[in-house]
Formats: sequence, C-alpha cells, structure tokens
Amino acid sequence: MKVAIFSTKKYTREFFTAANERHGFDLAFFEPSLSEQTVAMAEGYPAACVFVNDRADAAVLRRLKAGGTRLITLRCSGFNRVDLAAAAELGMTVTRVPAYSPNAVAEHTVGMMLALNRKIHRAYARVREGNFSLDGLLGFDLCGKTVGVVGTGRIGAIVARIVHGFGCRVLAYDVRPNPKVESFAEYVEGPQLLAESDIITLHCPLTPETHHLVNAERLAKIKPGAMLINTSRGGLIDTRAVIAALKTGRLGYLGLDVYEEEADLFFRDLSDDVIHDDVFARLLTFPNVIITGHQAFFTREAMHNIAETTLGNVADFEANRTLANEVTAQMVAK
Ligand code: NAD
Repeated sequence: MKVAIFSTKKYTREFFTAANERHGFDLAFFEPSLSEQTVAMAEGYPAACVFVNDRADAAVLRRLKAGGTRLITLRCSGFNRVDLAAAAELGMTVTRVPAYSPNAVAEHTVGMMLALNRKIHRAYARVREGNFSLDGLLGFDLCGKTVGVVGTGRIGAIVARIVHGFGCRVLAYDVRPNPKVESFAEYVEGPQLLAESDIITLHCPLTPETHHLVNAERLAKIKPGAMLINTSRGGLIDTRAVIAALKTGRLGYLGLDVYEEEADLFFRDLSDDVIHDDVFARLLTFPNVIITGHQAFFTREAMHNIAETTLGNVADFEANRTLANEVTAQMVAK
C-alpha cells in the first residue's frame, strides 16, 4: 500500500524505514505538514500518516477522500486534530498509536518538575558563565509535598507512581478513576486538588470539555506559588490567564511541553527568525518557566514503537483485519 507520511523529519524517516522492512509498503516522506495547502500531495495514496500538528479537519478530509485516501493513520495518541465526525461521514478510517511509551512522557514530566524546582536551567547557564553563586537557586524538597495529577490514564498513572516514590502525597482527579492508582493516590474533586497541590500536572486529553481546563477562575483557587506542568495538549491551558497568574506570583512555576498555538512554532528550527507570537514570547521571559517543544514522547523506545504500531495499523487495514487502534467519534462522546 502507498502511504503518504506528512510532517516528516530525519528521525521519522529513519524509524519508519526500519519498521517497513517487515511490511514493504511504498512510503512517501513529505516534509510539510498536512493542511489545505498540502493535501494535494496525498493524491493517489490510500493511506495518509499524520502527526500531532497536522490538520485533518472536514475540508482536508474531503480533499483526501476525493484523492483516493481511505485511511488516516495517526502516529500519535492524541486525535484532537482530526474531525472524526467528518471522517465517519466520508467513510474514512482513522487509527492511532494509543500507547508508545507512556514512560517517556511521564519521565519528561517529572524531569520538568525537578528542573523547575531546583532551577537546573538557570544553574546550567550560570556555571557556564563562571557564576557559581547560589542566590536565586533555592528549591524545595519534593518529599512530603502534594502533587495533583489530573487524568490518571496511562501517563498520569506513571507520573503518580514516580512522585509517590519521591515521598510525595498524591492527589488525583479523573472522570474515570483508575483502580491501579488508588493504592498510592487519593482521588479527590477538582477544587480540593487545586487548593492542596504544590504541583499540578495535566494528563487528560484535549476535548471540548477539557479546553482551557486551567483558566483564570481555577488559577485563582490554586495554592499560592504552586507549580503547573502540562505535557498533554496546549489547549488545556488558557495561556493568557497563566501569564497573568505568573505575573502576580499566584503561579510560582510553569513547565510546558505543549502550547496552544504550537503548530506555527514547534518541530522547526526558527532560530534565525523573529517569533511573531507575542504570547509565547512573553512566556519565554519568565525565569520560572521552562518550555520544551513537544519532545516528551521523544525517546528511542517510543519512536520504535510509533513506527511499528503505525505500520501495523496500515497492515491490519489493508488485510481487512479488526483494527485494534481505530479511533471513532463515539470515543470522544463517551
Ligand atoms: P489516556 O487516555 O490513557 O488517559 C487520559 C485520562 O484522562 C483518562 O483516564 C481519562 O479518563 C482522563 N480524562 C478524560 N477527560 C477528563 C477530564 N475532563 N478531567 C480529568 N480527566 C479526564 O491517555 P494517555 O496516554 O495517558 O495520554 C494523556 C495525554 O497526553 C494524551 O491525551 C495526549 O494529549 C498527551 N500526550 C502528550 C505527549 C507529548 O509528547 N507531550 C505524548 C503522548 C501523549
């Protein structure tokens, strides 16, 4: 089967070429991301493989369908960029990689907590300048602090387990509590988690219901000086409200691996360009903010699993087998 792979990087090509040795698909690696401007590239490809910032809205899906595409195979777990209702209407199949390495994302999340708390980003820069002063680098013991985990699925459950290992008290909130987490975390309602957590970390999907889950109203209820980490999806946070809370000190630390408007920034080298997004540029000015460019997933193990599962999904589709990783509009409605 011919597969058009959008948003290709050197590492995408490397891991997909290796995984394809088993399948022998006709893979076409396209550097641009999928959008109305680039959709024509997929003409004649029954499968289009897309990543986190590709756009598969109704208009793009209609064009794909007209060009002969029948399968949208996501090489990520989040499916918020695909209009699933439109896909169903057009009779197109959507698959994803539900779990490639929840450990990778959970470990990056905890890495952000440690870096922000102990100011490792600032210490690194200082020491390279020959500045060994400790002023401004004071941190706190994680042991004994309260960590609030919002969303305790695959990734959130691992974060909860890791911070429990540090000696933290773990509070959890989820619309569907996870029995595996109950032995080391206490499920509470949202307001209690906000009020009592020293660190709040987000691990729920982006849906209409979770859009701007962290807004001005909720930020007013967090523990003064608390830390917020988001390695899930940018839209979970109202960035302007977060900037306001950082300015007053209500929010003491912010760690982001994802950003609402990341599609115009992330996964590219823009170091010779001017950043036009003033909200993002403002975030970069805070000493107590760390941003990584959607790299939480990026480990060797995860890339291997992403390529294997994605091409496995294509093979199942081609052979008309049951699709274990199909995504449907009903999954969002649930
Ligand atoms: P998952 O489906 O295993 O877990 C998500 C959890 O969120 C579920 O337990 C669900 O019940 C819960 N949830 C749903 N709606 C909620 C709500 N309104 N309030 C509280 N909880 C709610 O997903 P996962 O594999 O743990 O991934 C979590 C998110 O991480 C994904 O949706 C994706 O957006 C993001 N992610 C980011 C990266 C990265 O590189 N930064 C990589 C993979 C996944």
